[in-house]
Amino acid sequence: MVSVAFINPFSEEGRQIVRELGDLNSVYEENGDLIDLVIHSRSQDISDDESIPHNLIDLAIKRLEWYIKKKNNPDFDYKKYSYLYNPKITRFDVIAFYLLSQAISVKFGPNSRESRAMAESQGKLMESRLGELSLRDRKHLLSTILGSLLIGDVKWTTLGDLLSSRKIRLPDLVMSHGNLILDEEEFAESFQDKLENRDSHKMYELLIGDHIKELILNKMIMQKTENYITDVYKKSQRKVEPNPILLDLADRISEVLNEPIISYGYRGTEKKMEASPFDTEAFPPCVKMVLDGIKSGGRNDAIILFLTPFLSYARLYPDVFRRNITLKVSDVDPQLEAVEKEILPLIYEAAERCTPPLFEDQPQEKVNINAKMGFGMHSEIELKHEGETTWYTPMGCEKVKLHLPSLCKPDEICKKIGNPLSYYIRRLNDIKYSKNSKTD
Ligand code: SF4
Repeated sequence: MVSVAFINPFSEEGRQIVRELGDLNSVYEENGDLIDLVIHSRSQDISDDESIPHNLIDLAIKRLEWYIKKKNNPDFDYKKYSYLYNPKITRFDVIAFYLLSQAISVKFGPNSRESRAMAESQGKLMESRLGELSLRDRKHLLSTILGSLLIGDVKWTTLGDLLSSRKIRLPDLVMSHGNLILDEEEFAESFQDKLENRDSHKMYELLIGDHIKELILNKMIMQKTENYITDVYKKSQRKVEPNPILLDLADRISEVLNEPIISYGYRGTEKKMEASPFDTEAFPPCVKMVLDGIKSGGRNDAIILFLTPFLSYARLYPDVFRRNITLKVSDVDPQLEAVEKEILPLIYEAAERCTPPLFEDQPQEKVNINAKMGFGMHSEIELKHEGETTWYTPMGCEKVKLHLPSLCKPDEICKKIGNPLSYYIRRLNDIKYSKNSKTD
């Protein structure tokens, strides 16, 4: 039977594995059992020694690297990481999990992109692992782990943290008199009068079934990971010097997260469009018009729905449509420096130039600007809120013409593009080309 610690490192089995670790220095030692398990895992590619973790620190790094590459690299090769889906890896994997979480706690703290990446990677790994298990093992683990996390009648308020951080939405849950319903019998009892002639089993499978249980389990473990990082961080503040092994691991974690994501996703002769400071000369007519300030209707939409996505993508991720990979702002601007010093000032100046100035009569609209960059409905931009809303992609020309027609005053270049962002990239390349030809 698969160990619950394979999915839940916070289980008693998981904690027992950590207690048995002994000397922390052993995490750097070549681990023959680990290597043997890796090379004998089903489908594992062993052609390249680089793909094989030789000790527990290597495994910790590979665990995070799996998540970053899977997320960003369209050519991701899961055969290089097959061992991560092998339940026999549990005793090594749990230690790798705690090493990563502790290193992130002491070096970066809870409100960091590293902390978020850790929680997200744990969620994704659990999801993938459950998907690879046999149905029997999957159901067994699901009911055992949920049974230990949610005991007795569960009020929906038990999931307060998950709801407030928007890991789970209230409409995802089925409730009766404030109690969360997950069990099929309970579902049938609670809703028998409402189900009338419908098949109770089918309705249960549709509304709850294993998919909602897995969602709750996944998000609870992610929340526990975040809470654990916070607890270790608080404790580490009282200590003088963190363990150098953890600090060293933290540096390697940074390297994995800083691996230039822009290097993924291009094929053949396709040219990259790097994130770079604004060149306002290359902005399309519609953007220049909004930067001058909106004097008539459509002011709020022009600043919030049109200008904010355009400027944030133009500055940070101009290749979004070519690469077609979803990123977060902090993936390309980890300290949010470009957001604070370049993007927001331009948006605020444009808002100030409007008649009447946007924030003079509607200061709350700053919250909507933050939301459009993915930082939730908050007055300040903070990493801990990133992901609560979606980073809006820039409107295409057709949409601009439909919703904000007064902004569209096309020029010659506009005939060749379908999105103001494509206009910007084309102009940037033209400007660069003409500068290079002058210097040649
Ligand atoms: S055609 Fe597109 S890029 Fe050109 S002004 Fe209109 S909306 Fe802007």
